[in-house]
Amino acid sequence: MSKQSELLARYEASMLGVFGRPPLVLTHGDGAYVWDADGKRYLDLVGGIAVNVLGHGHPALVSAVSKQSAELVHISNLFTSEPQIRLAERLLEVAGAPEGSRVYFGNSGTEAIEAAIKLSRRTGRTGIVAATGAFHGRTTGALALTHKVAYREPFEPLIPGVTHVEYGDVAALRAAVTEEVGAVFLEAVQGEAGVIVPSREYLQAARELTSAVGALLVIDEIQTGIGRTGKWFAFQHTGIQPDAITIAKGLGGGVPIGAMVTFGESVSKLLTKGQHGTTFGGNPLACAAGLAVLDAIESEGLVQHAQEVGDYLAAAVEGLGLSQVTGVRGLGLMRAILLRDEIAPGVASAAMNAGFIINPVRPQAIRLVPPLVLSLGQVDDFVGALPGLIEAATA
Ligand SMILES: *Cc1c(COP(=O)(O)O)cnc(C)c1O
Repeated sequence: MSKQSELLARYEASMLGVFGRPPLVLTHGDGAYVWDADGKRYLDLVGGIAVNVLGHGHPALVSAVSKQSAELVHISNLFTSEPQIRLAERLLEVAGAPEGSRVYFGNSGTEAIEAAIKLSRRTGRTGIVAATGAFHGRTTGALALTHKVAYREPFEPLIPGVTHVEYGDVAALRAAVTEEVGAVFLEAVQGEAGVIVPSREYLQAARELTSAVGALLVIDEIQTGIGRTGKWFAFQHTGIQPDAITIAKGLGGGVPIGAMVTFGESVSKLLTKGQHGTTFGGNPLACAAGLAVLDAIESEGLVQHAQEVGDYLAAAVEGLGLSQVTGVRGLGLMRAILLRDEIAPGVASAAMNAGFIINPVRPQAIRLVPPLVLSLGQVDDFVGALPGLIEAATA
């Protein structure tokens, strides 16, 4: 029995079954590569689901986390620390948030959404509008906004008042956004639904419709934020200013941290002392990681790099002219390769055999959300292998 099969058997005997049996036990990584417990190397084109923006083992993150852990790991929100204050300031800066804007830190994406749901309730209205295909997390508040029935139904009744409208459809949004609605929650680009980019006009219309009735516009940037789409945040492609954004995945480069940024003074005053809280959220370790990530993205020009490498990847895949590939959609390094047939799981397992980690997000779509440090040469390696992977999946 290999080291890996032995560990996976123990996994199944000890871990709750919600994730199924993982295919690999990973031991370490370097840049965009990871290694499994049997010593095999993979090019990681998923990056911990859009999390490892600096790749694995980035010296800036390693040193920030090592240094901070020797000083202070955790202090609770009874106290604050300089990394926390500096990260809040940096986030407001990269978000282009106006005077009066504020930051709340939690530990995950779903917690950032919970904070935004409570923000919405503070408008005095209980209605929430979300979109078909939406993914906002798995805790019971966020789950009410997540659209997939299989995720929600076993746990109903969830919080009431949530309406789902067709993503991308302005008329449907207009009909749903009434004066009973506290907030509209939208992903700037839908991730779990298969990387769906709405028109610029859609988010602009969402801004106008919410402003007109005094509802908040919350943009979920948990997957799209932190440089992923070729801007710091994907809403910045559209020229709008939301009332709040939720952030997580890429922010800590793998260290758990989530955040909600509230835009402007009146929204930032909706949640007051004692109305929300967390023990771990915004601890010095996670905030030092976040600062190292933002600094490295800036000093290495990774926002621009994500744009360039993403465009190169899309053009290279389309340039193969494969009959199975019907298109590539997405922005920056958040992409989906669309397939004619339902072979994405087969392509992903052929890829794993060949040393590439990719995500079959839908039966006909492969999602690529790699580290932003991915090189053009690494893209060439994957694109060169893709015809063979598709052949193996269709054979
Ligand atoms: C991943 C994700 C979440 C949930 O984040 P967790 O850290 O898994 O709780 C919420 N919204 C979007 C858009 C996501 O991609």
